[in-house]
Amino acid sequence: MNHIEKIDILITGGTLLTLSDGMDMIDDAAVGISGGTIRFACTRAEAPASNPVETIDAAGCAVMPGLVNTHTHLPMTCFRGLADDLPLMEWLHDHMFPAEAKHLNREMIYRGALLGVAEMIRSGTTTCCDSYFYESHVAQAAVDAGVRIVAGRGFIDFTPPDAAELGKKAAAAEKFITKWNPLYPMVTPSLFCHSPYTCATETLQLVKRIAGEAGVPFMMHLSETKEEGEIVRSRYGLKPVRYLDAIGVLGGKTAMVHCNWLDEDEMDLLASSGTGVCHCPESSMKLAAGIAPIPKLLDRGVPVGLGTDGCASNNDLDMLLELDTMAKLHKVSTMNPTVMDAAAALQIATTGGARVLGLQRLIGSVEPGKCADLIVLDMKKAHLTPLYHLYSQIVYACRGSDVRDAIIDGKVVMRNRRLLTLDVQKVMDDVREIADRVRRKD
Ligand SMILES: [Zn+2]
Repeated sequence: MNHIEKIDILITGGTLLTLSDGMDMIDDAAVGISGGTIRFACTRAEAPASNPVETIDAAGCAVMPGLVNTHTHLPMTCFRGLADDLPLMEWLHDHMFPAEAKHLNREMIYRGALLGVAEMIRSGTTTCCDSYFYESHVAQAAVDAGVRIVAGRGFIDFTPPDAAELGKKAAAAEKFITKWNPLYPMVTPSLFCHSPYTCATETLQLVKRIAGEAGVPFMMHLSETKEEGEIVRSRYGLKPVRYLDAIGVLGGKTAMVHCNWLDEDEMDLLASSGTGVCHCPESSMKLAAGIAPIPKLLDRGVPVGLGTDGCASNNDLDMLLELDTMAKLHKVSTMNPTVMDAAAALQIATTGGARVLGLQRLIGSVEPGKCADLIVLDMKKAHLTPLYHLYSQIVYACRGSDVRDAIIDGKVVMRNRRLLTLDVQKVMDDVREIADRVRRKD
C-alpha cells in the first residue's frame, strides 16, 4: 500500500510563487502543511498522496509566502489621520509626542495593536517588526491574533538626550528579552532606540550591547531627514553612519530604518558592517523626508526589507500598496524604469525582510522545512484581468483586499476574508472609543 502523508492543510491548485533562490513558479501547485511546517511544495501531479484535515482550493489564485513588514508602530493605528500634511519635526514634536504623552497606556497599546494586526493579516502580512512603548502589550496582541512578530522594546531619551537611568534601562531591556525568549515561538524580542538624535551615546551603546549579548535584533530610525544628519554632525562632528560605527553600534543583528540620507561612504559602511535596512517609502514620501537609495544598497549586498512605518505617517499597513509605491518611486527617482522590477520588489517584501529580521531560515519563501506562513490571493477580479505576468500583477495591480486566505505557523487565521482569530467589529469599536478620547483631548 502506498504511504499516505498525514497533513493538516493542503493548498491545492493555483500558481505558487515560492520566492526561493531560484524564484521557482509552480502552476497547478500543491502545498502540504503539518505541525506549522511546510512539508511539500510542488505540482499537484508530483504531490505525495495525503489525507489532509483541511483543504484550501486555490484554483485561479496566487499562492505565495506571507509578506514581511519590517517596520511599524502598531498602536499608532489610534492616531491614524490625526495630523497629516506636515514636516517630520513639526509632526513629531507638536503632534505625535504630545499625543503619546497624553494618551499612551497599556489598554490603548493593546487595542491599537489588535487593530493593526487585523489590518495586516487582511492585507497579507504574516510577520511584522514592531517598535513601541509598553511593547509587551503589542507582542500579546500579536500572539492573540496569531501573527508572527519581532517585538522591539523602545528606548528614547528625548531632547536634549542624556544618559540618565542607564541601570533602569538595562533592567528593562533584560526583563523584556527574558519575558519573550524563548517561550513564545511566534515572538522574537528585540531592542529599539528611537534615533541617534533622541538617544544619548551611552544609551545607544548600552542597548546595543544588551541586544548583542542576548543575540536579539537591534534597530533604530536613522537618517530619516537631512536635518537629522546636521544635528548629529554638529553634536558629534561625524556624519550619522560614521558616528554609529565609531560608537560600535553597527553590525551583528542590526537594522537601520529609513536611511534616506546616506552618502557613498555611509552605504559602504552599512554593507561592510553587515547592517540591514528597513525601507519605508510611503511614510518618507508623506513627510517629504527623503528617498532611500535602495538600488545602490542592494548593489552593495545590504539586506533590505520593506516596511509601512506606523499608521500615523502612512496612513495604512497595506504592504501590497507599499510594494507598488516602492517599485515606482525608485524608477522615477533614478529615471530608470528597469532599476527595480516587480520580482525584485517582491523579494524585498518577503525574503529580504526575513533576512533583515534574522529569520531567513524560518520564513520568507515557500519551501519544505520552512514555517508555514502563506497567503492566497484571489486573482479572479476585474482589476486583475487579464493576467500575463504574475509578479507584475501582484506588485502593480493587487491590493490588500485581494488577499483571500492567510495561514501563519500552519494555522488558518483568515479564510475567505474572514478573520478567525479576532472579532474585527469589536476591535474597531474599541479604537473608535480611544479616538473619541483623543478628539476630546481628555
Ligand atoms: Zn518608525
